[in-house]
Amino acid sequence: MTEHLLKILVVGDGNAGKTSFVHRYVSGQFNKTYKMTVGVDFSVKLLQWSDREKVRLQLWDIAGQERFISMTRIYYKGALGCVVMFDVTSSSSFLSCRHWKRDLDDKAMLPNGHPIPCILLANKCDLAQREVTTDSIDKFSKANGFLTWMEISVKENKNVGEAMRRLVQEILSVQ
Ligand code: GDP
Ligand code: MG
Repeated sequence: MTEHLLKILVVGDGNAGKTSFVHRYVSGQFNKTYKMTVGVDFSVKLLQWSDREKVRLQLWDIAGQERFISMTRIYYKGALGCVVMFDVTSSSSFLSCRHWKRDLDDKAMLPNGHPIPCILLANKCDLAQREVTTDSIDKFSKANGFLTWMEISVKENKNVGEAMRRLVQEILSVQ
């Protein structure tokens, strides 16, 4: 039995749904209110990936900043994957994704020198008042080196597990 330990970062503007996402994925629950994350917090999830492989995921959820902030290199150290999240009802949270991705690529790389696998998640797709079109997300995702993008709803538990599986699959394939 092999056990992989994967440090995964979850970044994006405040209110995108990062803490809800981690909580939903790790404990299966959705709560309406959370304490603002102070500093950095991490949660662990253990997956039986295949007959012979286990995956221990360390999900790093960052502080409740409203807008993009440059993160310290220490935070990125040892990361093997990243989730960049925005809220489809907030075009400013979408625009910030460019900065989050650039900061990641500037400060972190895999031990083999390749960029960190990164998935773009468009959260709150249960809401009607969208400000970001699927066409612009698709173009942005391709132009900025994301492995893929997915629409999710943490509230309705749509694509949460699928998105993490896709990311873990990519991480394991580039190791
Ligand atoms: P963070 O600042 O990125 O950690 O965001 P939070 O997880 O604290 O969520 C911010 C707000 O968005 C909270 O009120 C959540 O209940 C809400 N929220 C998170 N995910 C969803 C979702 O999928 N749909 C809807 N409608 N609200 C969500
Ligand atoms: Mg939070």
